Amino acid sequence: MTDHQPFFYPNRMGRIILLSMEEVMGRNGVHALLKLASLPSLLDNYPTDNTERAFPFSTVSTMTDMLEQVYGPHGGRGLAMRIGRACFNNGIRQYGTQMGITEMAFRLLPLPAKVNAGAKAFAELFNAYTDQKVRVEEEGNTLLWHIERCPLCWERHTHEPVCHLAVGLLQEALYWLSGGKVFTVEEKTCIAAGDETCTIVIDQSPIF
Ligand SMILES: [Zn+2]
Repeated sequence: MTDHQPFFYPNRMGRIILLSMEEVMGRNGVHALLKLASLPSLLDNYPTDNTERAFPFSTVSTMTDMLEQVYGPHGGRGLAMRIGRACFNNGIRQYGTQMGITEMAFRLLPLPAKVNAGAKAFAELFNAYTDQKVRVEEEGNTLLWHIERCPLCWERHTHEPVCHLAVGLLQEALYWLSGGKVFTVEEKTCIAAGDETCTIVIDQSPIF
């Protein structure tokens, strides 16, 4: 069924997304969304917790698209950001050790170095274990998180950036890394809107 799809997340990440959606929207909410998104094969049948790359990018983007269609652009955006935060908290348990960011040496780094090293380790996780491509660039006091191949807006066409789940994910990652500080995180460009990359700009100094 998915053999014509070129790019995938590992099953584990698909599972994390669905479980995180349940946390935010409830089980019935996810059910309704999957039905509307014509993804009935996922109903009560989430992917297995393994590393096989079998969760298509198109499934990820269909679900985020449907969030906006059902809840409106504003409501869908808020939900996607909350789902992104939940994804980080669920994912860190499974991927934190792999990234080395739960180690004491990392935790003792000063904040700017920690944000920098954390972003790079996080990008490397996507590059190594998924078909998503991420490049991190420093520009003045900001970090640019360039998603060069993005599952969230895969094959979508929009007028403005729509990868809100990634914004929530990065916000929560920064909150966790910094021990509870809040950073400005904003998606400035989006492949779905015709840009070359989905670029999320992170202000390296926390707001509070
Ligand atoms: Zn995108």
